[in-house]
Amino acid sequence: MKKNFLALLFVCSFANAQVISKNKSAVLSSVEKHQQDLIKLSDQIWGFAETAMRETQSSKVLSDYAESQGFKVTRGVAAIPTAFIAEFGSGKPIIGILGEFDALPGLSQKAQPMKEALKDGAPGHGCGHNMFGAGSLGAALSIKELIAAGKLKGTIRFYGTPAEEDLAGKVWMAKAGLFNDLDVCLDWHPDYENKANMQSSQAVTDFSISFMGKSAHAAFDPWNGRSALDAAELFTTGINFMREHVKPSVRMHYVYTKEGNVPNVIPAEARVWLWIRDSKRTGVAEVAERMKNIAKGAALMAGVDYDIKLNSGLYELLINETGAKTLQANMNLVGPISYTKEELDFADKIMKEYGRESKGINGAIKPLEVTKDDPPGGSTDVGDVSYIVPEITLLATTAPYEAPWHSWVVVACGGMSIGHKGMLFASKALGTTMVDLFENEKLRQDIKEEFLKRKGKEIWKAMLPEGPPPVPKN
Ligand SMILES: [Zn+2]
Repeated sequence: MKKNFLALLFVCSFANAQVISKNKSAVLSSVEKHQQDLIKLSDQIWGFAETAMRETQSSKVLSDYAESQGFKVTRGVAAIPTAFIAEFGSGKPIIGILGEFDALPGLSQKAQPMKEALKDGAPGHGCGHNMFGAGSLGAALSIKELIAAGKLKGTIRFYGTPAEEDLAGKVWMAKAGLFNDLDVCLDWHPDYENKANMQSSQAVTDFSISFMGKSAHAAFDPWNGRSALDAAELFTTGINFMREHVKPSVRMHYVYTKEGNVPNVIPAEARVWLWIRDSKRTGVAEVAERMKNIAKGAALMAGVDYDIKLNSGLYELLINETGAKTLQANMNLVGPISYTKEELDFADKIMKEYGRESKGINGAIKPLEVTKDDPPGGSTDVGDVSYIVPEITLLATTAPYEAPWHSWVVVACGGMSIGHKGMLFASKALGTTMVDLFENEKLRQDIKEEFLKRKGKEIWKAMLPEGPPPVPKN
């Protein structure tokens, strides 16, 4: 009795005195029970800091842990060595949860409020994917335990999804059909606010445009040469003139990846790497067609050949309000994140070091937002998953308010307790939400109906080149 009474007190402090079901209470206890393991996994991956499709050690610690906890693990799915699936249970419903773990080049940073690389020039977790993978696995584990105990029926499936920052890992997994039989899929992302995501993301297509000319001595007989660099410059000039005649939601950005070696040799080869984004995939496709004509025109003007290579493309994220509302209720059940004085001081110091005003850390739970017409800038390969299966996305605070993303600040916070707290909050909020998804068939139907309505007539098709995934050789 005493034990039960204590358990009740424990649960009430979590739940802000709301009524909490036995299964949800079990999810919260499971995350508490495994929290040292989850923090260790997150910190290990933070230390490995491996970039897209090179996440060998990160993928190994996550998949080994899942296996040690009784999941059936399949490694190297979709012909990507670092992609894996960890599954438990059988039959319907099948609920999926995504876990990323790739880092960003050049962002190495110690877990301290002053800028200092852990290893000069090495990658770092500037997007917090170390917490993403471990936090999602924590949520999946809490559900696995409920299925094992006979309290829930169906299948829980954790997707180890590499290469989000580059190379479109999930699109390759989607092309292999790995998400097709899911009823609902969940994911989360580190952020500086706790909220059930109601905003879409930008669709993007990634191209390499090559120009092939003829080299010659730039002073002795330039008339015998044809400059590929001229064509590349004419091409980007054309792109910049097009900016006036595209919708405000369009973004186009490029870099030159090859432009010649020395001024006295007419460049025979030049290459531009270009990304086109818009709030909808169809908008990107329209601009991409115009871009192709600009490349053709530039090549004609310079008298050179050209080639356009599609590297990858991502769909915009389809949000699901029914799912987001369910998540919101469970976030409220878990309750806000509180911080110690040391953590608040860390946040103040790191923001000042970065050169921004410190606004503390926001551990509160934001009310559900209204969906904006134009999504915030940025793209994710979760968008492709959201066109195949209804997707519910959580954002959890792992950094000070308005912290600069993809910077050393996020790396530092993701390697210490501010990040850990956000990750454990995510595990609990996603785990309790999954309890609703397993238990409530009507909810799953409503979520699916909304998904079909939002998707409309669009048929998902992977925007990828032919052949196998671009797994790096070393
Ligand atoms: Zn990210």
